[in-house]
Amino acid sequence: MSTQPVTPQPTARSEAAFADALRAIPGGVNSPVRAFGSVGGVPRFMVRGEGAHIIDEDGNRYIDLVQSWGPLPLGHAHPKIVEAAQAAAANGSTFGAPTRAEVTLAEKIIEAVPSVEQVRLVNSGTEASMTAVRLARGFTGRNKILKFVGHYHGHVDSLLVAAGSGVATLGIPGTPGVTPGTVADTILAPWNDIAALDAVIAAHGDDLAAILCEPIPANMNLVPAVEGFLAVLRDRATKCGALLVFDEVISGFRVSLGGAQASYAVTPDLTVMGKVIGGGYPLAAFGGRRDVMQHLAPVGPVYQAGTLSGNPVAVAAGTAQLDLLTPAVYSQLGHVAKRLVDGFAKALTEAGHDVIVRRVLTLSGIAFAKEPASDFAEMQQADHETYSRFFHAMLERGVYMAPSGYEVIFAATVHTDAVIDEVIEKAHDAALAIA
Ligand SMILES: *Cc1c(COP(=O)(O)O)cnc(C)c1O
Repeated sequence: MSTQPVTPQPTARSEAAFADALRAIPGGVNSPVRAFGSVGGVPRFMVRGEGAHIIDEDGNRYIDLVQSWGPLPLGHAHPKIVEAAQAAAANGSTFGAPTRAEVTLAEKIIEAVPSVEQVRLVNSGTEASMTAVRLARGFTGRNKILKFVGHYHGHVDSLLVAAGSGVATLGIPGTPGVTPGTVADTILAPWNDIAALDAVIAAHGDDLAAILCEPIPANMNLVPAVEGFLAVLRDRATKCGALLVFDEVISGFRVSLGGAQASYAVTPDLTVMGKVIGGGYPLAAFGGRRDVMQHLAPVGPVYQAGTLSGNPVAVAAGTAQLDLLTPAVYSQLGHVAKRLVDGFAKALTEAGHDVIVRRVLTLSGIAFAKEPASDFAEMQQADHETYSRFFHAMLERGVYMAPSGYEVIFAATVHTDAVIDEVIEKAHDAALAIA
């Protein structure tokens, strides 16, 4: 079997944009992984998104399996979300005063997410997890937090230790600019290892304000919790008096309306949300137990604020998106994720590659490896170099995947069976081309 010849894509306009960007913006991008640093090559500068597709500066059209890293389960420029955002923008973009629409969105979140009794809206997942940590410390009067190696919670100083996503992609353990003092209270544990967890808790349990995790880790590729692990976290947090904080910035409203906590039936004290709840606009949230949330200013002493928090345009778009997320949408997203990973597995295996595909509900990931990883150290052993070559072979064929082997596939309802079949046909070709 031979592969079909691929016509090289024109990239002159993306190259020119990147050259200008490198002069004006550090690394030419406003978020590191966009720079294609680990896969090499010129990042494509996008001009338009239409459902399943994105179109770059040179007019190349790609099937998009990234979907802005998670916020778009319904694809690009969904007409109802566009309409809601436009109507809100025309009405005045921001007031610095409360609006009824914020309350409506808060009520929807409370209704959907089992553990959330009160919620505050912010602008980014980073801001939400930063404040959740501050609130946990303020509530418990304790300083230390436990996080898991390879879990990403935004670029919060105290959480940028052994973080996944871009930090893992760039191969840096932490980051300069974060002082030793800032991370002195961050305790690390490997994921899925109860013995290691118990050792950490034996040593630090009395000082722990929070145990923080991604309940469905999706920033070190996809490394699901082993059976019962989330329930163990719940148990240990309760026993040592720490708050259990689920970072559901990816899993929230993506695996189901209630997020991972509904799917796994484990109830955290606080939940961090982002991505899907903004409908593609800058909006995130944290929420949880009323008695904990009541420690926030202005009712409580823990300060948190934001000029654009609860921004009317973002709230309108987010609300419009949540209103569209019916049970049927989640079963369709699950179908998309399954059809994609089954297809990828077949294509890559037939071409002689060792590949592991994982799926949790609507989230999925592919890794070039012989065994499924159960923690970050194991995921580091995957063949990320082959992933890079596969990424480029797919890109050349018009499929845009995450430019890093530490990310997942973001299914969207616009990935119809016909679109998926096209992706898989190209995957067969790309898999042979890199064999
Ligand atoms: C993306 C992400 C964040 C950070 O959200 P931003 O909006 O990028 O600041 C936090 N936690 C998880 C799990 C994420 O995937």
